Amino acid sequence: TQAPERHEFQAEVKQVLDIVVHSLYTDKEIFVRELVSNASDATEKLRHTQLTEKEIFDADLDLEIQVTADEESGEVTIRDFGIGMTHDELIENLGTIAHSGSKAFLNALKESGEKNENLIGQFGVGFYSVFMVAEKVDVYTRSWHKDGECLRWSSDGSGAYEIDTVEGERRGTRIVIKLKEEYKEFAKKDRIEAIIKKYSAFVQFPVKVEGEELNTVGALWLKNKSEITDEEYKEFYKFQANAFDDPRFWLHFSADAPLEINSILFAPTENMEGFGFGRMEPGVALYCRKVLIDSDPKNLLPEWLRFVRGVVDSADLPLNISRESMQDSSLIQKLNKVLTKRFLKTLEEKAKKEPEVYDDFWQNFGLFLKEGVTTDFTHRDQLLKLLRFESSYTEEGKTTSLSDYLSRAPEGQKEIYYLSGPSRSAIESGPYFEAFKARNIEVLYLYEPIDEFVMNHARAFEEKNFVSADSDDIDLDAISPETDTDKPEALAKEDSEALCSFIKEKLGDEVSEVTTSERLVGSPAMIVNADKMMTAQMRKMMKAMQQ
Ligand code: ADP
Ligand code: MG
Repeated sequence: TQAPERHEFQAEVKQVLDIVVHSLYTDKEIFVRELVSNASDATEKLRHTQLTEKEIFDADLDLEIQVTADEESGEVTIRDFGIGMTHDELIENLGTIAHSGSKAFLNALKESGEKNENLIGQFGVGFYSVFMVAEKVDVYTRSWHKDGECLRWSSDGSGAYEIDTVEGERRGTRIVIKLKEEYKEFAKKDRIEAIIKKYSAFVQFPVKVEGEELNTVGALWLKNKSEITDEEYKEFYKFQANAFDDPRFWLHFSADAPLEINSILFAPTENMEGFGFGRMEPGVALYCRKVLIDSDPKNLLPEWLRFVRGVVDSADLPLNISRESMQDSSLIQKLNKVLTKRFLKTLEEKAKKEPEVYDDFWQNFGLFLKEGVTTDFTHRDQLLKLLRFESSYTEEGKTTSLSDYLSRAPEGQKEIYYLSGPSRSAIESGPYFEAFKARNIEVLYLYEPIDEFVMNHARAFEEKNFVSADSDDIDLDAISPETDTDKPEALAKEDSEALCSFIKEKLGDEVSEVTTSERLVGSPAMIVNADKMMTAQMRKMMKAMQQ
């Protein structure tokens, strides 16, 4: 037999290898992700080749990815039946830096000017990551071309690799990894299974460990909606979000412009923040063509949508972009814009078509939308349409939207009125409510501390200002009270003026002004608020916070 050919790695590859081999990067397990994703790519390419080529070697092999591990010998084997590689492809793909991943890694290294460990994880150094754990790697491969040869590429990750011909390989690629002594744990069946479950659950092809298929879920988001059962959506949600509840509803959509997107977004049943688990972390995973880029990217959705779970797959993402630079990239901003808009639209539709479903969502997750109103100017108008409040027109426990409120407002009503209080009865028994009740003007009831902040931030809805019903300058003259009949005779002007100055004298600096008013119906007097920025309720809150 011929002696194996010896090749030096390209200088840049040596550089990458040197860093990878000596790295202290802790997530060594990502080599599995990289190799399985390559296996998946190669299989995907074969599938495409099958569409155009008639002559394919080993044409009827099952398209699956097989992983075996031998703890004793410390070997892991990852095998695919994809396109395989020819002699020249081996040199080009595994001996040079031609491919994108390691190139981006090198560029980032140059920019950061140091041996930055974390870059390995961020860029997915690709195939070369295997040398973090391997003492030796043998790549057995057979190209799909009819007249190809069976080849072995072999290296210990130092300066060189060898290629020689072998016998009897099936189409595709078989990578045998001899683990370094200290990384033998990766040859444990449990360990490798856990890693594959973590990273490859949605690889399109079956990934089997010792014959057992691990990724039964598949890339659900790329399937046609009509082919997916509710059960599958639920199972996928639980799997993806690591959740114990069911999703209450979901949005599965695809878009081609401005970006190519396939996404499933879930609204959970349970609000974990409501359970006192602390602030939720974002949980919408980002994929590029079924390959996981980042399982919890920041900025993919606005903060106030942090309860949403799911997956976004965009073919427009560069696979090898670093997580940090990605989070601020214009691409992420564009994705954020599209996703937020679609999710809000879904909520609007729910509210219209399935009001009970929406109401229950509102009861559990309304706080997030209120947070949105106070922090997210861009989506404020859309969010305002989704707000719900109890009011003097609703039954206890039932709510109204702001649009419905306005549709009921009598002609001449210029503002949207609200009152804060701990409960319905507390609000309705106070003096501020009287004038509105007498005129049949609806008042929104705000029970939550955040509600007044919401009103203050939003200021207006459909050009009608939000006004607290305890403000001093409410003008209800345009609407006359309906219960006006047995109103007792009013004091003469001088008498009422004398009475006002008498009270002002008694109260001194406690009040800024004492006047007569047409607002009261049953009560003799009330205290109104002259401070536009702070209602009595807010003042109470501020006081409580200072203590
Ligand atoms: P990337 O996947 O970003 O291109 P990798 O370092 O992971 O970079 O892989 C380098 C190249 O090696 C791939 O682009 C592919 O051409 C080739 N390759 C790696 N694994 C396989 C495989 N299992 N089958 C066929 N080709 C492969
Ligand atoms: Mg790769």
